[in-house]
Amino acid sequence: MTRKTGIYLLSAFILLSSFILSSELVFHLGKNECKLIISGNDSASLVFVSLHENENTAIDAFVLADSGFSNYTLIQLKQNGERLVKYKIRGKDYSFDPNRIFTEMGIKNTLKNYNEKYPKRLEKDLKLFSDSLLQIFRRKVQNGYIVALHNNTDSSYSILSYLNSKDAEDVYINENEDIDDFFFVTARSEFEYFKSMGRNVALQSEGVEDDGSLSVYCQKNGIPYINIEAQHGHLQKQAEMINEVYAFLQSIRLNINIEKSD
Ligand SMILES: [Zn+2]
Repeated sequence: MTRKTGIYLLSAFILLSSFILSSELVFHLGKNECKLIISGNDSASLVFVSLHENENTAIDAFVLADSGFSNYTLIQLKQNGERLVKYKIRGKDYSFDPNRIFTEMGIKNTLKNYNEKYPKRLEKDLKLFSDSLLQIFRRKVQNGYIVALHNNTDSSYSILSYLNSKDAEDVYINENEDIDDFFFVTARSEFEYFKSMGRNVALQSEGVEDDGSLSVYCQKNGIPYINIEAQHGHLQKQAEMINEVYAFLQSIRLNINIEKSD
């Protein structure tokens, strides 16, 4: 199989019921496969993206948070139920973090981090894979936000990771909130909004380290982005945070309408 045909997607099925679309795209990662499950509207102002398949609370929270807001799309990447995705070449699996492949530097580093050695062509193959994912994300999001859904484990990665870090331009910590539950945003207006709601929030800096994550790509490319991070098992809290993103979007829409009517 050539490299070009190897990566591109076969569409498996599409279900259409009223305005809700659900589809499954299959990607060939060498001899392995992974799937993109897409549900919700065909294009939407909030495109929720779940890249780490082991972060289950985020998806349960998304279902729980269903607030009647209808203008959304949910995109889930699935392979083996694990954080890392595996690409198979000549009988050997090569692992990578699917949230580290959105820049060339990120692709090289994630392959180096998780594999003792790897064939050089894998860098190009992962670039094609990430380009395909980004094309889908960009097509889905219409005048709105990519909203990443993630879970972390107790105290390994938290809002404290951004204190005195060159990756964050500003950090707000509410001492009554769990440090593992926080928003990570790329624009000042979103930072101020979640701060005003009393939520832990970090604003990514322009000088953020290029780790190939979706937040870095979105900032570089001017795509509005919000990450909802919550500790594994903090279901109710993460559902509340998702509802706050809906409320945030409605508040800016309202402001736009008020400005128009002046
Ligand atoms: Zn994650």
